[in-house]
Amino acid sequence: MSVTGEAAGRGVAGEAARTDVAGAFEALYGAAPEGVWAAPGRVNLIGEYTDFNDGFVMPLALPHTAVAAVSRRDDGLLRLHSADVEGGVVVLDVAALAPLRGDLGWAAYPAGVVWALRAAGHPVTGADIHLASTVPTGAGLSSSAALEVVCALALNDLFGLGLSRPELAVLAQRAENAFVGVPCGVMDQMASACAIEGHALFLDTRDLSYRQVPFDLAAQGLRLLVVDTRVKHALGDGAYAERRAGCEAGARALGVRSLREVPYVQLPESLARLSEESVRRYVRHVVSDNHRVERTIALLDAGDAAAVGPVLNEGHASLRDDLRVSCPELDLVVEAANAAGALGARMTGGGFGGSAIVLVAEERAESVAAAVEKAFAGAGFAAPGIFPAVPSAGARREA
Ligand code: ADP
Ligand code: MG
Repeated sequence: MSVTGEAAGRGVAGEAARTDVAGAFEALYGAAPEGVWAAPGRVNLIGEYTDFNDGFVMPLALPHTAVAAVSRRDDGLLRLHSADVEGGVVVLDVAALAPLRGDLGWAAYPAGVVWALRAAGHPVTGADIHLASTVPTGAGLSSSAALEVVCALALNDLFGLGLSRPELAVLAQRAENAFVGVPCGVMDQMASACAIEGHALFLDTRDLSYRQVPFDLAAQGLRLLVVDTRVKHALGDGAYAERRAGCEAGARALGVRSLREVPYVQLPESLARLSEESVRRYVRHVVSDNHRVERTIALLDAGDAAAVGPVLNEGHASLRDDLRVSCPELDLVVEAANAAGALGARMTGGGFGGSAIVLVAEERAESVAAAVEKAFAGAGFAAPGIFPAVPSAGARREA
């Protein structure tokens, strides 16, 4: 395994992959697609469990993308196929799409996008879609948002809907929340839709305003590693809903619309007003993580990305001890990476598995990755997948 290549890991959709997607579309549907689009997965640098509290997040897009070859139809049929899933073409009637059917499997993601667009009054009259993705699934890297956003952008372009990137992200989120039935925030879709190369996306989830923050790690001799623990995260098990309800209870008790309104400098007094122990912990995490996003931006703006390392470590401790969404594998990545000389590390995404990120000086990237692999082997865990997070472009038309 090498972590020094530009895009090591599970491979990145390049020219060959795009040609394959168009070719596979033609083989399936009997004509060339009208176009080919791509949308990336993402990794979140800092700001976790803040996006349903009107707070701050700071994701970056990965080089890994979902690619879609798409043509319009005008007969009301939606035909869906994924190169990455067993089984044939799924054929649906766009007028009969109904939320939470449960039997659609993976097809609920693209079908949900068509449903959300139509529910918002946009004239999507049918489509043929063939998908292929290099975003690892269930690893906390948002393969689901990549799938939604690539479909949303393709349909927006083909049907001339004129929707903005944030509007497409919100509709994609609505597809996942209301149609698929996953209560995710809007960060993943915004990152996939709006990120640009060489930057992290500072997003204020209260009003979806955002700023592209330069994040040129190579220029500062640094590398950000993604470590996929291979432990499949399962957000549907009630833990996410419980944290969310706890945060809402905290906001109510403090008399604010959302925890975003609690200033970091008032955190001690605010915590003293909360009687429920778990709510106190959740509030402390959310308010301090918002503050960590602001500190990270200040450090990046000052050109001192290395100083973000300790902020990542603090963020991990907060997710582990206050929010309690980590797991032994994620904790071991952080511990082993830091012991081997990383600048800092934390779990990223929803937790309970999925991925961690490690900030490390370029010359130590190989040895830190090796130390994490060794620690996993020693603990009897499956070998992790490790690759560098190169800040990449958001969704785009490719052909
Ligand atoms: P994550 O977004 O963290 O990868 P999710 O559980 O939110 O994890 O989304 C994963 C789901 O998205 C998969 O179980 C599958 O239904 C769907 N999905 C992702 N990529 C593909 C793909 N290439 N083809 C078909 N379905 C996919
Ligand atoms: Mg997802």
